[in-house]
Amino acid sequence: MSLELRSRDRERKLLKKINESIELIEMGDYGYCENCGVEIGIQRLEARPTANLCIDCKTLDEIRERQQA
Ligand SMILES: [Zn+2]
Repeated sequence: MSLELRSRDRERKLLKKINESIELIEMGDYGYCENCGVEIGIQRLEARPTANLCIDCKTLDEIRERQQA
């Protein structure tokens, strides 16, 4: 894949995440972990506004992903 295509793909994924975040804000569900329902926390959201998992679930997710790879 060319560099341009790759960055366009990244952009598309980011846009999708932003749209999902906007939907969650509109539904009043923004800022809560999709997995366990805990508040993600403002510090994490400031660093990653599109975060949909709390730090604990995200860490587990990353470990699982690494194990699959
Ligand atoms: Zn969680």
